[in-house]
Amino acid sequence: MRKITSRFPNLCILIVEDNFINQEVTKDILEYMGCKVALAKDGQEALQMAREFSYDLIFMDLQLPGMDGYEVVRHLREENVQKPIIVALTASALDGDKEKCFLAGMDDYISKPTEGAELEDILKKYFPTSRH
Ligand code: MN
Repeated sequence: MRKITSRFPNLCILIVEDNFINQEVTKDILEYMGCKVALAKDGQEALQMAREFSYDLIFMDLQLPGMDGYEVVRHLREENVQKPIIVALTASALDGDKEKCFLAGMDDYISKPTEGAELEDILKKYFPTSRH
């Protein structure tokens, strides 16, 4: 496993994930890189949090109880909440799913289970001016 060397101390990130283990793993890795991390456990909570605070990036699980990830993102983009980069956390990386993510207004996707190297690459891609 690749060692994480990047630091992103200025980033505020929202993780939307209903699985406790995935929440903890993703949060630990992001905090290790210095990010400030908030958690939402379902779509409704995610929507509310994203309306109230301007996160830099949202990691969005697609399968959530109630409102799913696609729907949350569609709502946010329709409301013109453009700021956060939104990255889907997908269980499958089928082409149809990727297409659906982009159509819903997501910027990118990574597959679950989330790994440190992948999270680091995403942050480096969208926030290249942070300290690496
Ligand atoms: Mn889920």
